[in-house]
Amino acid sequence: MSSDSFSSLPLSKIQIDNLDSLGYKQMTPIQAQGLPHVLQGKDLIAKAKTGSGKTATFGIGLLNHINPRFFGVQALILCPTRELADQVGKELRKLARSIPNLKLVLLCGGKPFGFQKNSLQHGAHIVVGTPGRIQDHLNRGTLIVEGLKTLVLDEADRMLDMGFSEVINEIIEHTPKKRQTLLFSATYPDSIKKMCHSVLSDPVTVSVESEHHPSIIEQTFYQVKESQRYDSLLALFEHYQPETTLVFCHTKLQCNEVTQFLNQHNIETLTIHGDLEQRDRDQVLVRFANKSCSVLVATDVAARGLDIKSLNAVINFELPRDPEIYIHRIGRTGRAGEKGIALSLFISTEKIRLQAIEAYQNKTWICESTQSLNRKIKFNIHPIMATMQIDAGRKNKMRAGDILGALTGDAGLIASKIGKIDIFETHSYIAIERTSLRQVLDYFINGKIKGRSVRVRMIA
Ligand code: ADP
Ligand code: MG
Repeated sequence: MSSDSFSSLPLSKIQIDNLDSLGYKQMTPIQAQGLPHVLQGKDLIAKAKTGSGKTATFGIGLLNHINPRFFGVQALILCPTRELADQVGKELRKLARSIPNLKLVLLCGGKPFGFQKNSLQHGAHIVVGTPGRIQDHLNRGTLIVEGLKTLVLDEADRMLDMGFSEVINEIIEHTPKKRQTLLFSATYPDSIKKMCHSVLSDPVTVSVESEHHPSIIEQTFYQVKESQRYDSLLALFEHYQPETTLVFCHTKLQCNEVTQFLNQHNIETLTIHGDLEQRDRDQVLVRFANKSCSVLVATDVAARGLDIKSLNAVINFELPRDPEIYIHRIGRTGRAGEKGIALSLFISTEKIRLQAIEAYQNKTWICESTQSLNRKIKFNIHPIMATMQIDAGRKNKMRAGDILGALTGDAGLIASKIGKIDIFETHSYIAIERTSLRQVLDYFINGKIKGRSVRVRMIA
């Protein structure tokens, strides 16, 4: 039995089997370092990058401490965004399959309050959510955490970046003093150190260094003049022609300007930043993930919610001041052994940022000139997929299989023309190859899904 096998931990046979059925054969490094302490009930500070398996590190631990026969909230997990809370909720549900009758409730903004209140009244063992909404429920007395055993602050650095520090402290005031607190963060700035000091007691710190391999993520830096920044961005697209690209900007304003610029130059682009309404955010994430848009411009905070597996390229429109943020950004490409490219533009006054990155990575980079890029005339990026929205969702018991069935059956589409299907509460999104759009739209003039007429519209 290797020391990083789950069976080396004091877990039930049922949980070990469950992990096995999830394909979790071995602990990831952060799990191997963190889980023994978490299971012992220690407070933990864990520093690790995205995708390192942090959720199971706290998830397996907190599940082990839950008493399913006590119908009170025993674990509270705070996440920076709704998308992240969703992901954590999904992962925890999988991990909790070994425990019958366990209830998990998601509490995020943008969802009806009354509905959440009802779910809580029926008894919840675990609550996952965003700080604002959780604070709301605590203040209105609809959420009670007096019997809390475990508090998790997931992506703590992002929560502080988003200005949740006050709110988090207020939430903590509601929890028992004697509790286990687990804090996860990709970076460890002073603000996090301060927070750890005030909310954790005698914590164990574990840290897994980033494992980026230069052969997997190819990093290239281009020094440009400020006046050339936009044109150089275009040159990067023309030369590399990446299939999916995430462009990082500093501010919302910059996101909007870059998006507008790329669209004007025939590169179909969407943007995501903190100012979007929840429904618009959902749509952007759906369209990027289902490949009906292949370029996304985002701020660091907004990009956190993204769960895209195969990103070909990350472009830094300008370099971030903090080298850890740079590492975090480029870690979005080259996942799972695939090769990714990280391209960065910087101007002479940002050279100091490059030096910080070099010091952090302990290497020096040779900067390329944009002259070496192969420019194309009449270049464009138009994805082959498009997204349609239908006005039926989970609430109408709509499932992906129903939609797929109607389109390949009655509508006569070949399955390969249909992409990802995303079901939301009251509506759903379907990715369709653009060449088949007419056929689908025509079908829905009279056609039905599960015997029900649905309204469809293109999301453009
Ligand atoms: P993080 O929160 O660190 O970004 P996650 O907890 O979301 O990472 O995990 C990333 C992915 O790895 C998830 O899809 C999860 O199901 C998977 N995963 C986690 N632990 C293991 C493991 N021990 N073996 C295999 N896959 C794992
Ligand atoms: Mg996570």
